[in-house]
Amino acid sequence: MLQAIAGHGWRTHSSQSAQNLHKGKPAAGFSFELTDEQKEFQATARKFAREEIIPVAAQYDKTGEYPFPLIKRAWELGLINSHIPESCGGLGLGSFEACLITEELAYGCTGVQTAIEANSLGQMPVIIAGNDQQQKKYLGRMTEEPMMCAYCVTEPGAGSDVAGIKTKAEKKGDEYVINGQKMWITNGGKANWYFLLARTNPDPKAPAGKAFTGFIVEADSPGIQIGRKEINMGQRCSDTRGIVFEDVRVPKENVLIAEGAGFKIAMEAFDKTRPPVAAGAVGLAQRALDEATKYALERKTFGKTIVEHQAVSFMLAEMAMKVELARLAYQRAAWEVDAGHKNTYYASIAKAFAGDIANQVATDAVQIFGGNGFNSEYPVEKLMRDAKIYQIYEGTAQIQRMIIAREHVGKFKV
Ligand SMILES: Cc1cc2nc3c(=O)[nH]c(=O)nc-3n(C[C@H](O)[C@H](O)[C@H](O)COP(=O)(O)OP(=O)(O)OC[C@H]3O[C@@H](n4cnc5c(N)ncnc54)[C@H](O)[C@@H]3O)c2cc1C
Repeated sequence: MLQAIAGHGWRTHSSQSAQNLHKGKPAAGFSFELTDEQKEFQATARKFAREEIIPVAAQYDKTGEYPFPLIKRAWELGLINSHIPESCGGLGLGSFEACLITEELAYGCTGVQTAIEANSLGQMPVIIAGNDQQQKKYLGRMTEEPMMCAYCVTEPGAGSDVAGIKTKAEKKGDEYVINGQKMWITNGGKANWYFLLARTNPDPKAPAGKAFTGFIVEADSPGIQIGRKEINMGQRCSDTRGIVFEDVRVPKENVLIAEGAGFKIAMEAFDKTRPPVAAGAVGLAQRALDEATKYALERKTFGKTIVEHQAVSFMLAEMAMKVELARLAYQRAAWEVDAGHKNTYYASIAKAFAGDIANQVATDAVQIFGGNGFNSEYPVEKLMRDAKIYQIYEGTAQIQRMIIAREHVGKFKV
């Protein structure tokens, strides 16, 4: 059913389950059993993470160097851009499969996983709203060689409050002229193109649903100045930058859907990308649990291994409960996408819960390592630093709760 193909890793074909998988349709009924194809993607990602990412992760963390050799290898194995439609040369996998792969990559290093995941975030608006020509041009080129893109929405003055962004685009003939500044853009210095959200309606009273437009912008357009790589607390090999746009000309063909449609496109993308972000947080938490368990089985105090102290084994039990439940949450959120349902509620639950438990589980892992946990010769302090961002990017922990509350309370209103 799955065969390795040059430069792309996998090609699915023939069987009914593979076709359903391809079209994103989940199998009928309720099942926790993965399909053979899902198991194969999971096993490939697991092998790659354990054999190729883990041995070099600490070094990338130390140097902050961009992990392009690993990204190239992931591309060759078909573990990146997995949801690009077949019509553009991609695998067209479902959200569920993308999440399984993401969890495994994150187990290896979430800096690497975030660099890879930022491609999905940049591509998602084009997958959701791009016309045939735009999809073939911008998604297609990413299947021909390893290449990055980025999602440019946040600005120095507006993150959670997306409608507060100030970057503007003015129509001049057949082009738009873009001026403004973006901040915290993952893959900002490595991207070949950007999805960019800009204000096209200068009227401050215009509703968000009509005031903003989504553009595809070539990264080598004149007028783009890429800032320095930001030095972050964790996920340090991921490339995060500010970008200035000064009189950048974009052809009108690069508008997604139409003027005014941008806000909805940018927000809808999150429904699709929050499940994999949650999966990344679960991969990190699973790694922290595994490291802490191995350590607890070896470290001795008071004449026995620390796992024999009930206080420690109960910590491991609590960590295991959190990891298992967060995994179920992202799988449910991804399943909803593949079933064609609106998944805003489940995506935010998964993202908020997995982000929180990744932090709790990584902190507990450091505790179980004792003094060694605080030291960079051991793996868990990196996990604790890397975990924090899951409560911040793609909507903070507070913003997820606002969304969950809105969706929940909305069900009680007629
Ligand atoms: C490493 C990294 C990578 C990133 N990658 C990208 C990227 O690729 N593309 C992109 O566009 N952006 C990216 N971001 C930006 C990220 O999405 C924002 O930082 C995030 O949405 C929060 O926005 P902010 O930093 O402006 O915080 P603010 O919005 O200023 O929030 C500050 C605090 O106030 C809280 N808060 C704000 N409003 C409310 C409210 N109404 N109720 C309760 N609490 C509230 C927040 O939860 C937070 O705790 C990245 C950020 C980082 C750090």
